[in-house]
Amino acid sequence: MSSTSEPEERVLEAALRPKNLHDFVGQQRVREQLSLVLEAARIRERTSDHVLLSGPPGLGKTTLAMIIAAEMNAPLRISSGPAIQHAGDLAAILSSLTEGEVLFLDEIHRMSRPAEEMLYMAMEDFRVDIVVGKGAGATAVPLELPPFTLVGATTRAGLLPGPLRDRFGFTGHLEFYSVDELELVLRRSAMLMDLKVNSAGFTEVASRSRGTPRIANRLLRRVRDWALVHQIEQIDARSASQALEMYEVDARGLDRLDRSVLSALCTKFGGGPVGLSTLAIAVGEETETVETVAEPFLVREGLLGRTPRGRIAMPEAWSHLGLTPPAGVFD
Ligand code: ADP
Repeated sequence: MSSTSEPEERVLEAALRPKNLHDFVGQQRVREQLSLVLEAARIRERTSDHVLLSGPPGLGKTTLAMIIAAEMNAPLRISSGPAIQHAGDLAAILSSLTEGEVLFLDEIHRMSRPAEEMLYMAMEDFRVDIVVGKGAGATAVPLELPPFTLVGATTRAGLLPGPLRDRFGFTGHLEFYSVDELELVLRRSAMLMDLKVNSAGFTEVASRSRGTPRIANRLLRRVRDWALVHQIEQIDARSASQALEMYEVDARGLDRLDRSVLSALCTKFGGGPVGLSTLAIAVGEETETVETVAEPFLVREGLLGRTPRGRIAMPEAWSHLGLTPPAGVFD
């Protein structure tokens, strides 16, 4: 993707975001529970409990944070763990919040330790201690905060320290979407994009979308481009699959990263077990990218296994890549 097309992609992504819980497809349990939390807060005329959302990227955590703010009729402030490296960064954000504001902290597991500790008190007592001065003369000045709702998002709930996790009144874990649910996401997006797609065309795109709405919308845009260039009026299964083959998305939805992880596992490490960081080096990616972007989907698809001794290729991984496992591997 060229850098000039990125802002347009982002504008389109924002335009496709559902604005309320009603339009938010799937995740029924989380949606119902959240709706109850928000309704109770409205009846009590209080800010909602803090909400933690976990799950792989692109499943709707940011979208839900925006919906929470909209449903509470409250402004939304967006920041992220990596942007908060010092307690002072967090203090600056917290002290400028207005009453009832929703603060969305993406990748909350990547916040620095001192900031995290400041957040405990802010979440519980709506108060922070600002340290003024240095060394022996340093004093903590308490600062009252207006009540606010924190919405934290993480791709790795297991990495959050217990005391932080415990301070969220509600935790929702987002699951991968079914093909049917992704079809609903795509139908809505196609309507907003004024794009003609038949039923089989939607199924084809949905089944290649790795259970992820962000990917479904992205693939739909690629199919749209392809149809435009090839002057195709209505997208069907054949045109969708031709377009997506071109973008290296295979029939099962595996993209280049997924396939290179599996193929390294099979061809360089004889199917494993191999440690995560070694595997990441072999495919030239960050450990976290392999762990949070590729692995959850590969595990769900039964292609990759996590064992105490490392990652292993499952029998289906070999057949999907058209490879034969070495003799004795699955005996
Ligand atoms: P995350 O924050 O989990 O990475 P986002 O909330 O940014 O994911 O969602 C990515 C895109 O996918 C959004 O632009 C939105 O249009 C779409 N999307 C996510 N979840 C849903 C959903 N449940 N229904 C419809 N569209 C969704």
